[in-house]
Amino acid sequence: MAPQANTLTPADSAAVTEKSAVRVLNNFIDGRWLPAQTSIHLDVTNPANGEVLARVPLSGAADLESAVAAANAALPDWRSRSVGERTEFIFALREQFRRHIDELAASVTREGGKVITDARAEITRSIEVLEVACAAPMTMQGRVLEGVARNINSETIRQPVGVCAAITPFNFPAMVPMWFLPFAIVCGNTFILKPSEQVPLTSELICQILEEIKLPRGVVNLVHGAHDVVNAILDSRGINAVSFVGSVNTAKYIYRRAAEKGKRVQALGGAKNYMVVMPDAVVDKTVSNVLGSAFGNAGQRCMAGSVLVTVGSARDAIMPKLKAEALKLIAGDGRDPKSSLGPVISPAACGRIHDAVENGIKEGAELLVDGRHPKNTPEGGNFVGPTILDRVTPEMSAARDEIFGPVLSVMHVGSLDEAIALVNNDPRGNGTSIFTENGAAVREYSRRVEVGMVGVNIGVAASPAYFPFSGWKDSFFGDLHVHGWDAVDFFTRKKTITSRYFSSGETGKFFTEQGDKH
Ligand code: NAD
Repeated sequence: MAPQANTLTPADSAAVTEKSAVRVLNNFIDGRWLPAQTSIHLDVTNPANGEVLARVPLSGAADLESAVAAANAALPDWRSRSVGERTEFIFALREQFRRHIDELAASVTREGGKVITDARAEITRSIEVLEVACAAPMTMQGRVLEGVARNINSETIRQPVGVCAAITPFNFPAMVPMWFLPFAIVCGNTFILKPSEQVPLTSELICQILEEIKLPRGVVNLVHGAHDVVNAILDSRGINAVSFVGSVNTAKYIYRRAAEKGKRVQALGGAKNYMVVMPDAVVDKTVSNVLGSAFGNAGQRCMAGSVLVTVGSARDAIMPKLKAEALKLIAGDGRDPKSSLGPVISPAACGRIHDAVENGIKEGAELLVDGRHPKNTPEGGNFVGPTILDRVTPEMSAARDEIFGPVLSVMHVGSLDEAIALVNNDPRGNGTSIFTENGAAVREYSRRVEVGMVGVNIGVAASPAYFPFSGWKDSFFGDLHVHGWDAVDFFTRKKTITSRYFSSGETGKFFTEQGDKH
């Protein structure tokens, strides 16, 4: 299948090959920082002001195969170390993440734009994943059943899958790579990370931290790039498992192509997340949660609450307050504590979001809050303020498309059944929330929605690291979700050993060949 998704074309890439003076990033392969074997680079920019921060190489198959060779060479020693020893590295990594939290958060804000409090929360979530991965000596345990037949035991053990790769999106430069890296390596696998070419700097920092903890070389490798290197990952015979997070079309493509090559795959796609407000919802708290969900990280979250559905009289209770509070939110540089939301990732994203709003208006939605031209934002930044499109109907593009920006589409229905039908008619099913004090409505909603993660009086709620994270339907292709128990299942292969020993009781006696003891 030809990938339909976005990002670069060779023409875009060529346009930047001649620039110089800005630092060119290296890959991290076999414990060394190596230049990519390419002359094609892209600018990495600060979305708040357009400053060029670095240039990222678009690596190809040759670079990828060097990383695969390093990861395969490191595998026998790494997997034969005790689980306790591997866990020690994760403890050390957790300590270093805590030590470098300011630096990591600053990097996330610099290249991704989110406000610094959100960036710190992202690092805190990454630390939480590290802490859960430290439970490997418990979670990696298998099962034994004594006596499946006379003198015969069966046991299932978990072994590493081999070389695992992750391909990650721009919107969580630290957390999404860290959904995979700690679990992969603690389970005895070696790992290759291909971060988003739009935010490669935080991954570089993570690898520098891995150097500080003296992780053996080749256990984690970093290869920058875009489509070519992704295709090389999918086709490589030396990679056993692929984790992907990104948009729906790319997730479908990755899932098909990697599975065709016999790899284990988990591919998380995009989303359209509904927040349903019942007539008895607590107004102030609901409004603040809805706004946080819709406009946090400038709406660039797979768990962004992008559609608000009011049921019955909830509309009159919620809408005036929602509008008034949305107008108070300030778009600005993520480093400025006054900013409620930062820039979107690129000028292209900005243009796409403007188009989505204009299409919404053309199709009959009412522009309740217009954030298209926020005031007093820094020069050169990609800013869009909070925007609310009201009276959206299911056939409008504002209801169908993932806008991935600070745009909230609002719909009004007469009953919980109608709200559930709207949610379930969406092809995606990542997260959703219901706001009500009515337990029966919560039960009904949680039971019937075809969505992977449900929040109750909580803006669309990502699962904590000790639970599995993932959506349903087009938001997820695969079987095993991210983190929680599923992570150990994904990053290990089960092997069942059935055994007996003739010298130990086949005749009802122990050690018959050495002489009777009993
Ligand atoms: P994206 O799909 O454009 O890119 C993700 C990764 O895939 C990047 O590393 C990119 O280099 C690579 N890629 C993109 N197009 C490709 C192609 N055609 N062939 C091969 N590789 C390709 O996604 P993005 O814009 O970086 O991130 C935003 C999207 O990610 C949104 O749709 C969002 O909902 C989704 N997302 C989902 C989750 C989740 O948990 N479900 C989490 C975060 C983001």
